[in-house]
Amino acid sequence: MQTPALLLVKQCPSRHSFQKRPSTPFWISCFAILLAITLPDSLHAEDVPMAKTQSDGYYRMMLGEFELTVFSDGTSPKAIDQIMSDPAKVRAEFEKIHLPMPYQSSYNVFLIHTGKKLVMFDTGRGIKNGHLQENLRKSGYEPSQIDAILITHMHGDHVGGLSHQGKRQFPNATVYASKQEADFWLKTKPEDFSSDRWKGNALRAHATVDPYIEAGKFKTFDGIQQLFPGISTLPTHGHTPGHSAYLVQSQNRNILFIGDTIHCAEVQFPHPAITIQYDYEPDHAKAARLKLLATAADNGYIIAGPHISYPGIGHLSKLDDGFRWVPVQYQYEVKSQTK
Ligand SMILES: [Zn+2]
Repeated sequence: MQTPALLLVKQCPSRHSFQKRPSTPFWISCFAILLAITLPDSLHAEDVPMAKTQSDGYYRMMLGEFELTVFSDGTSPKAIDQIMSDPAKVRAEFEKIHLPMPYQSSYNVFLIHTGKKLVMFDTGRGIKNGHLQENLRKSGYEPSQIDAILITHMHGDHVGGLSHQGKRQFPNATVYASKQEADFWLKTKPEDFSSDRWKGNALRAHATVDPYIEAGKFKTFDGIQQLFPGISTLPTHGHTPGHSAYLVQSQNRNILFIGDTIHCAEVQFPHPAITIQYDYEPDHAKAARLKLLATAADNGYIIAGPHISYPGIGHLSKLDDGFRWVPVQYQYEVKSQTK
């Protein structure tokens, strides 16, 4: 077997080929080539620490005339099979697609710039565990620039980023939620909830939403309503009593912010009847999911899911029993597309 050095000597230019350039001695040229090839070997990868950092956690695309930015609020491992309604089917589905358990649950937050307003959809888990604030700033915006925050529901991983220790994190934003959602979490006495989980959630909702109510920056809506030009509400009660989706339209592009109608895309798109322990009313949650996903598939709407693997945006097509998820195609340049 020939060593790299021997191969190199064989590849060295012949003396004859250097005769036309007497100013470069033959041995210097050979030495330079030898050095160039042997140098990388002397820099061992073991001396270079792995970077172990991720790229900035935001993704951007145009939706008609609107700009959509997705922020990663982070991910966390979750033994999803233990909290879904059909554990055996969940595990079988994961094995089929070679995904390990626990799987990584994403926490995505979405922002639409309409040209006139900056409208955010949910706020992630909060600054203690989440990364929304840093990724928002990295993307070129400031929290004080956000005009409105539309809440899908008042679980801690969606309203957690609103306030920190009683201080509003988006000082100029007005927060919107459905009347049913606000009444359920904020008007029921926490001690009247049937479980510690719901009670804890109510206390968290108070801690994050109350500062906006006190500042006169909280509004509710009821049913289907247009909140801003191109932005409408869509009741999807079930996961929580007042859970809402939002439909955003610009030119001929549509996107549905679906909140927690989907927790685990890998399972609930092919098997939309599977529910999760976090559902307050599982049957209603299932019905809302089936209706919303069918609407998206029939109309070619883009889906935006907080817990779908980041950036959590894509299309659906109908299968016999469920839906096929097709993530949006990565586009390097942020340009408008027409469908
Ligand atoms: Zn959630």
